[in-house]
Amino acid sequence: MGTKGREIVGLDVNKVLELLNKAFADEWLAYYQYWLGAKVVSGPMKDAVIAELMQHAADELRHADMVSNRIIQLGGAPLTTPKKWFDFTNCGYDSPDNSFVQNILQQNIKGEQCAISVYHAMIGEVGLKDPVTYNMAVQILQDEVEHEEDLQALLEDLDVLMKK
Ligand code: FE
Ligand code: FE
Ligand code: MG
Repeated sequence: MGTKGREIVGLDVNKVLELLNKAFADEWLAYYQYWLGAKVVSGPMKDAVIAELMQHAADELRHADMVSNRIIQLGGAPLTTPKKWFDFTNCGYDSPDNSFVQNILQQNIKGEQCAISVYHAMIGEVGLKDPVTYNMAVQILQDEVEHEEDLQALLEDLDVLMKK
């Protein structure tokens, strides 16, 4: 823990750590949801969808890395067991029981919309009282906004294809 780095946080550090661990749980669940979705997805435009899902899985894992680094910088501990992901998550987990491409896309769009709300709220809560967490949340939010748009564009292409 960097003492000066922690001292400049003008908020209850434990509150910030709770927000961060909740986001950390979301990122792991999002990673797994994308990773598994890419394995099982079926239907038209499957190859394009798999490529996008795999890219997003890699991004979610990178987000988990960014969030855990910030937790450690603030003197906290990232959740120590996967079981705790379900106790802390904001956005939950949708299992790809229906592997049809439209279902997988819709499930992940829902997840991205939740992630956008979570990071938007985090940015509002920490504000400039914790500029390092703020900057991390802005960077992740930019990715989540891009993810939502990528998936919605794929869904639109699929709708066009299936109306023919
Ligand atoms: Fe993410
Ligand atoms: Fe995402
Ligand atoms: Mg993408």
